Amino acid sequence: MSLDRDIANYLERGELPDLPSQHFIAGAWAAPSSGERMESFDAGRAAPFHAFAAGDEADVDRAVAAANAAQPGWGRTKPSARGAILAEAARLLRAEKERFAFVESLDSGKPLQEALGDVSGAARALEYYGACANTIEGATFPLGPDHLGYSVPEPVGVTAHIIPWNYPLSTAARGIAPALAAGCTVVAKPAETTPLTMLMLAELLSRAGLPDGVCNAVTGTGPAAGAPLVADRRVRHVTFTGSVPTGIGVMEAAARNVATVVLELGGKSPLVVLADADLDAAANGAIGAIFENAGQICSAGSRLIVERGAHDALLERVIERAAALKMSHGLTRPTLGPLNSKAHLGRVAEKVEAAKARGLAPAIGGRAATDPETGKGWFFEATIFDAVPETDPLVKDEIFGPVLTVQLAEDEAHALALANGTDYALVAGVYTRDFGAAHRLAREIDAGQVFLNEYFAGGIEVPFGGNRQSGFGREKGMAALRNYLRVKSVAARIG
Ligand code: NAD
Repeated sequence: MSLDRDIANYLERGELPDLPSQHFIAGAWAAPSSGERMESFDAGRAAPFHAFAAGDEADVDRAVAAANAAQPGWGRTKPSARGAILAEAARLLRAEKERFAFVESLDSGKPLQEALGDVSGAARALEYYGACANTIEGATFPLGPDHLGYSVPEPVGVTAHIIPWNYPLSTAARGIAPALAAGCTVVAKPAETTPLTMLMLAELLSRAGLPDGVCNAVTGTGPAAGAPLVADRRVRHVTFTGSVPTGIGVMEAAARNVATVVLELGGKSPLVVLADADLDAAANGAIGAIFENAGQICSAGSRLIVERGAHDALLERVIERAAALKMSHGLTRPTLGPLNSKAHLGRVAEKVEAAKARGLAPAIGGRAATDPETGKGWFFEATIFDAVPETDPLVKDEIFGPVLTVQLAEDEAHALALANGTDYALVAGVYTRDFGAAHRLAREIDAGQVFLNEYFAGGIEVPFGGNRQSGFGREKGMAALRNYLRVKSVAARIG
């Protein structure tokens, strides 16, 4: 495949490479039981480009049955053999990186260069957990000479993965790879606006050697396909990424079956800049933190908390960089892509309009927009509100779009109080040259992950997840393997 040729064919003639349009169940494409279809939209053009299966309870039942049937065999497969399949999947994904990135960009709207990064991240997750499969060990317990005590880690069983639309492929991979490494089977339900790369990943895993039924994907809406999946008694664990209300509903459904859950919900993450910081590095960090993926990131740095002495110089830099961002169709590699859906654009615009109605004026941006070249698409301008009071909804509520609020701090203690001033606690960033202040803030800020002097620093090796309204449980790193393992203890009399 030539990426540039495929992009040109799509943008000029509407031609597309083969796209999946059915569920992937028991190692094969599967038509929806109802025969119903739903449309995928190109957010950069506000137009449909593909139709896919509208799944329902009957499709979910088939997928969970396939996963359940495959569970005993996969759970007993040698860990090294499981790891080898994941490593092969990583190799295939790298070889097919351009096709996956093309589809991811088109389906989600995100800039192509970001989609390429997401595919690399997904390949890295497969590779990392492929290696981790070999490290899963039990323990021995000191019971004295007459007894032997040991533990055996076992896969928890069938796992459900509810995947959001902002990072469809990389979120899928970060949950599915550790599940498979641990010996669990998978039924994944991608978001209704971004189903395609999950289907492609399931098919790729099959080509990499994954036995039929070990990884299944059912597409459809949350109520029609997601709800029956998380309520299925055969599902022993649910990994969910999405909004707080939906996460609470998922947890309630899982609770009825006494199944475990990991919830990765929203955020309103602070990026603290102290007066002594490298302000160019901080400005670059702040821009990436809120305008990458048009701010549709659970861990976006959506609140810039700046110490008074650095405020003017930092704001000047951030506004200058925000003004230079270019909006256009995701496949043309813009620095600011469209929002994922018309409905989501409406939600972002509503929150910004409400802020204006409360008397807040944006320093830059603040309006819905279209691609300047085509006049189409669901865009929102890069928006910054300065000096927002800590009680304002702009500071409290997740917007999930390219909207940055700035809060003024008098000193380190005030910055800390502002940083901890919302119901969310997912991640935080700190920019300062003061080693002690950096680590004091890292200790005191309530968050699952703190980035020092580089927002989004880290990788698949580093555990990720939130506290309070941002959820609980950790994905990524060795910590994620524990979501998919349970401990069996054995104690024996031998003397
Ligand atoms: P959502 O939480 O409704 O959807 C996330 C996933 O859950 C999708 O796959 C959806 O189909 C599924 N789902 C919906 N209802 C379900 C149900 N009853 N049972 C099982 N699965 C169900 O999110 P949304 O409506 O697409 O977006 C709304 C807001 O959610 C955004 O504005 C943003 O604040 C937040 N969000 C957060 C993340 C994140 O990364 N934490 C990702 C996407 C959206």
